[in-house]
Amino acid sequence: MILRALLLALSTRPRIGEWMNRLPVTRGFVRRFVAGTAADDALAVIADLNARGLQGAVTYLGENVRTPAEAEHATEVYVQLLDEIKRRNLLALPSLKLTHLGLDLGEPVGRANLTRVLERGRATGTRVWIDMESSAYTERTLALYARLRPTYANCACVVQAYLRRTPADVERLVELGATVRLCKGAYREPREIAYPDKRDVDQAYARLIDRLLAPDALGRGVYPGFATHDERLIARVRDRAAERRIAADRFEIQMLYGIRPDLGAALRAQGLAVRVLVPFGEDWYGYFMRRLAERPANLLFLLRNLGRG
Ligand SMILES: Cc1cc2nc3c(=O)[nH]c(=O)nc-3n(C[C@H](O)[C@H](O)[C@H](O)COP(=O)(O)OP(=O)(O)OC[C@H]3O[C@@H](n4cnc5c(N)ncnc54)[C@H](O)[C@@H]3O)c2cc1C
Repeated sequence: MILRALLLALSTRPRIGEWMNRLPVTRGFVRRFVAGTAADDALAVIADLNARGLQGAVTYLGENVRTPAEAEHATEVYVQLLDEIKRRNLLALPSLKLTHLGLDLGEPVGRANLTRVLERGRATGTRVWIDMESSAYTERTLALYARLRPTYANCACVVQAYLRRTPADVERLVELGATVRLCKGAYREPREIAYPDKRDVDQAYARLIDRLLAPDALGRGVYPGFATHDERLIARVRDRAAERRIAADRFEIQMLYGIRPDLGAALRAQGLAVRVLVPFGEDWYGYFMRRLAERPANLLFLLRNLGRG
């Protein structure tokens, strides 16, 4: 727990990333979770996933941009990614962060840039998934989603099981017939806002699986993406779907590139729809540190190799 908190605290200090980037061993290790620096790197990985029956999601790494030019650049990259997905006939969609599109510069900036991406997504017949960031952004992100979803049916959002508010948010999303990813949550949050104990998070996740697969939710058009590598929770999704005779195309399992590819392949072989999120870009530090925080063994591996390097 302490290590997780420390790593998440460090994840917001990009200077450390600049230092780490100079060490070849870190660069090599980052490659386990990040496809490369160019869009082509991620799209090539996704083409390979598609060939094995898995769908893709592509993330251009970056968050909390400080200037309109940076936000504009990220937006343009996502628009081009949508064109490339169509051109290459890939089963893939973009998964983006609103603070990468300029939410910190004001809601109108974030909304205008997101709308541009959604427009292109609609034109190319592609869904656009809005990631969820720290709790400072939950309300604004969900409010923007509720505002845009009636116009853009291709718009999808995320909720985090660790947040105490999430069951209430899910009820609102059920009303909207939302396309929604359920994840555990990857940020450092105060205990008043988020469950500090992993067991509570896992139990909350299990209850939310049941809710999102309830007949009334599916009847309203809810399409859930269960983003987890937790085999017990994935088994629960599978069991609920079997009990309720839910067709395999009414939900999906989502995983991160570099984490449990064996499990992704096995789930696909069982007939489940599986999507793998593949990130690329230079700005890997925050993403990478959150992956370290999720699994201390990753840190030990890195430190052992640092010792050798
Ligand atoms: C597709 C996808 C999208 C996501 N989007 C968001 C988002 O928008 N907002 C957000 O806050 N979070 C997001 N997350 C991250 C999520 O909140 C969790 O932090 C992350 O998925 C780890 O939790 P877990 O559900 O895999 O369960 P855990 O209980 O953490 O892990 C279960 C098992 O998975 C494996 N595992 C998990 N993490 C790692 C790792 N880093 N390295 C190696 N093995 C690992 C281990 O075998 C572990 O025992 C996303 C996750 C996925 C899969």
